[in-house]
Amino acid sequence: MVIEVQGISKSFGEVKAVDSLSLSIPRGVVYGILGPNGAGKTTTLRMILGILKPDEGKVSIMGRPVDVSVLSRIGYLPEERGLYPKEKVLDVLVYLGELKGLPKGEAKAKALKYLEEFGLSSRAFSAIEELSKGMQQKLQFISVLLHGPDILILDEPFSGLDPINSEILRERIMDERAKGKTVLFSTHILEQAEKMCDYVALISKGKKVVDGKLSEIKAKYGKRTIKIEFEGDGEAIKQIPHSSLRLYERFAELETELEVNDVLRLIIDKVKVQKVERTEPSLNQIYISLVGGEGENLDNN
Ligand code: ATP
Repeated sequence: MVIEVQGISKSFGEVKAVDSLSLSIPRGVVYGILGPNGAGKTTTLRMILGILKPDEGKVSIMGRPVDVSVLSRIGYLPEERGLYPKEKVLDVLVYLGELKGLPKGEAKAKALKYLEEFGLSSRAFSAIEELSKGMQQKLQFISVLLHGPDILILDEPFSGLDPINSEILRERIMDERAKGKTVLFSTHILEQAEKMCDYVALISKGKKVVDGKLSEIKAKYGKRTIKIEFEGDGEAIKQIPHSSLRLYERFAELETELEVNDVLRLIIDKVKVQKVERTEPSLNQIYISLVGGEGENLDNN
């Protein structure tokens, strides 16, 4: 495991922001910490980075307690963004690169390369405050990548980005994974997480609800849903063994353990099938089914 979190807790006065949380994050994966606003995601990331000291529990990164040399292998995008507003884009990137130990020439070359890649070359000599929020966020992401860290820790990296820039960022994150980097990020947008995570931890009120490989969580907790568009007598659909069924004039949605082929075999002589598909349960559905009444529709947050 590249990051091992063992039973960390943190209270702020009466509020237990994180409650005995343990996480195991393998090397080379994209790992999402997911939960609604206030679930404790930021507090968890800050404890992993040693910015906040846990009340109990411990964190190790690359097999060691978090110290300066471990931190030099990490790129961190904090939730509160902010780069020196009056300074020029390129100057700030070079400065931040040097702070992370890059020689000036290399910092400049890398900064220019990333500015190009993110479509910001023409802004290299603008003051940061003249950039839009989304551009500033891209800039901050560049500052995370500059020194070539092995681990990226990104707190709500997609907040404030439009769909096109979200997609650019998503692709860049996946590129980092392809290079063998480990990416840990937080989000309340489960749809986004679904597209990119190998592993997830769902948290609610500071506690872990479930964690592990996304595919295994889906297989374990997801109900198996089949949707059928048809013409003919819906009675045939009712005969398919199911645990739940929503049946309309020409459409049915049912939870069943049967494979699509078996379902077709049962109905093919009785109705005209226009379309049939097995749909994966969404992470949102899984979260709500696990958290129960406390669940919110996270995607609408
Ligand atoms: P969001 O998605 O809104 O950023 P989050 O999951 O990152 O939420 P945290 O920021 O970790 O959640 O907050 C968890 C809880 O801890 C909240 O109830 C919050 O009010 C509280 N909290 C966090 N930081 C502090 C602080 N410095 N002082 C007091 N309470 C805090």
